Amino acid sequence: MKRIWIFGAGGVVALALVAFATLWLSPGLQDRVLTRMIERFAGTNLAVLDPDALHIVFCGTGSPLPDPDRASACIGVYAGDYFFLIDSGPGGADNLTAMQMPMGGLSGVFYTHLHSDHIGDLPDIALNSWAAGRSDPLTLYGPAGIEHVAAGYAEAFKLDNSWRIAHHGTDFFAVEGAKFNPVIVEIPDRDATVTVFEAGDLKVTAFLVTHFPVTPAFGYRIDYKDRSVVFSGDTSRDENVARVGKDADVMVHEALAAHMVNTIGQVLGRIGDRREKIMGDIPDYHATPVEAAEIANLAGAELLVYSHIVPRLPNALSERMFLRGVSDIRPRGVMLGYDGLYLELPVGSKKIVQHDLR
Ligand SMILES: [Zn+2]
Ligand SMILES: [Zn+2]
Repeated sequence: MKRIWIFGAGGVVALALVAFATLWLSPGLQDRVLTRMIERFAGTNLAVLDPDALHIVFCGTGSPLPDPDRASACIGVYAGDYFFLIDSGPGGADNLTAMQMPMGGLSGVFYTHLHSDHIGDLPDIALNSWAAGRSDPLTLYGPAGIEHVAAGYAEAFKLDNSWRIAHHGTDFFAVEGAKFNPVIVEIPDRDATVTVFEAGDLKVTAFLVTHFPVTPAFGYRIDYKDRSVVFSGDTSRDENVARVGKDADVMVHEALAAHMVNTIGQVLGRIGDRREKIMGDIPDYHATPVEAAEIANLAGAELLVYSHIVPRLPNALSERMFLRGVSDIRPRGVMLGYDGLYLELPVGSKKIVQHDLR
């Protein structure tokens, strides 16, 4: 019996080796495998275009701290005929491509503020959506300074854009699609809300949050038919997020686990790493996971999704540390966002359907 088993296992290994050798030595077979892979990954995820749901896709749930598992701030919202991004942090464009998101209909980007981890992927976002068919200038909504971001990137990529138009032709790359249309959003005071976009059943509202010395810094609320999502942007604990996010179906809140960042700072200090200073400075302009949970409770939000997660969480133990104390005040309706998460909120219901597009 034992001998039969050994011969059987040996046969499987021999067959696998033959199959591998055949693939390794056969260009025709390699081309067929490549074709299959392209067929699988080149398609577009059309589910997010269903007008009977509000769709939220997480293309970046990290921060400026290097994290191989999370791109910087980037979240997409598909609602009816519109597709908007909340921020365009580094790595976001790659994730949108990996998630097979339809990019050609990109209507604009709402910027929470102009830190590098929120703006850095604008050139790739612009190029990918242009290649996918966007033919109008890309509208960039944001605080004063957005006009400099738009002008700076336009200047930096002027030659690149001209070469792409020259190579592929204006029928493919419409000249207007290379341009930006910056829109400065002004919010008079903390009690105000400003409607930055409204069309049909879709409304986007901006409000002030606290990210000093970054002023102003915005959060956004998006309402589509009877469904809603609120984005905190980067902020310390700020009840404005709860006020404007009142009864939102989903609250996407940033979070920095101060107890973990403090430990990182102490270790950096011991080894003489000058970035100890940064670890000491950043907790004062971000919210802790527990504070974000308090804000979600105040708002009565159905689901709290952590995003802009600091520090890096490479395993289940670190995730548990990050969430320390959260279940005491919010036992349900909490999740850690991740790159590839897609939430579908069907209209006319309270359902929040989670999809994993990793
Ligand atoms: Zn920031
Ligand atoms: Zn940030």
